[in-house]
Amino acid sequence: MGTGVFIISAPSGSGKTTLVERLLRDISGLHFSVSYTTRPPRGQEQHGRDYFFVARKEFEEMIARQEFLEWAEVFGNYYGTARRFLEEAERRSEDLLLDIDVQGAAQVKQKLPDAVSIFILPPSRKELEGRLRRRSEDSEEVIQKRLRDASREIHGYARYDYVLINDLLERSTARLQAIVRAERWRQRGELDSEPNREDKRLVREQAESCRKERVQPQVEPILASFGG
Ligand code: ADP
Ligand code: 5GP
Repeated sequence: MGTGVFIISAPSGSGKTTLVERLLRDISGLHFSVSYTTRPPRGQEQHGRDYFFVARKEFEEMIARQEFLEWAEVFGNYYGTARRFLEEAERRSEDLLLDIDVQGAAQVKQKLPDAVSIFILPPSRKELEGRLRRRSEDSEEVIQKRLRDASREIHGYARYDYVLINDLLERSTARLQAIVRAERWRQRGELDSEPNREDKRLVREQAESCRKERVQPQVEPILASFGG
């Protein structure tokens, strides 16, 4: 059985961390890839748990040694996924979950066409702003910058397989889980087979409701709320 790769991207404040934590709690055999970055740690972040924090020189040496599956410069810092995480997941017969930006997602899709990509969107700019404020993690200046960055990033949704509009948390949690379960069955050729054929059909329908093509009409007003 091959290792499945799931890519999740989202503008900051959309609820990605919350949804990923719930997914890892509810689904077994899914390994979270800890990225390398040259940005300094924030708040409670820990080396090896949230990121591997390294100097630019070290990162550039890793690029030269071709140690990255993908890497990109995001907001002035390098971020990258080490190839070894994929190899480890393959050895353990686990799937791999990548939390990376739009540029990284495009590189992974090119190298691993079976990778499944999911873009998380907030329901509107106003709701995103409210969440950033309620999270109380950032200064007003940083919140304004995140909103500007979000306006740029959200257009990237068009290159993803699935789009998850994170409105009601419980529903979004269930939908994300459904996408992973349905894709696992599909990749193993078990989607229409027994056991639990009817359950599988329902999960698949829930996943299919998040296909980019299906969500498109709901995305238009969200883009409009960010000013086009
Ligand atoms: P991200 O990782 O995308 O920056 P977080 O997971 O930190 O986002 O979520 C941002 C804030 O929004 C947090 O305070 C979180 O509790 C809250 N949040 C996440 N999902 C929802 C939701 N569906 N409805 C309301 N608030 C949410
Ligand atoms: P932050 O600094 O807020 O943790 O992350 C900033 C952005 O970098 C987010 O969009 C996040 O998804 C992205 N990112 C984190 N790790 C990686 C990585 O390994 N590769 C790429 N391409 N982007 C990453």
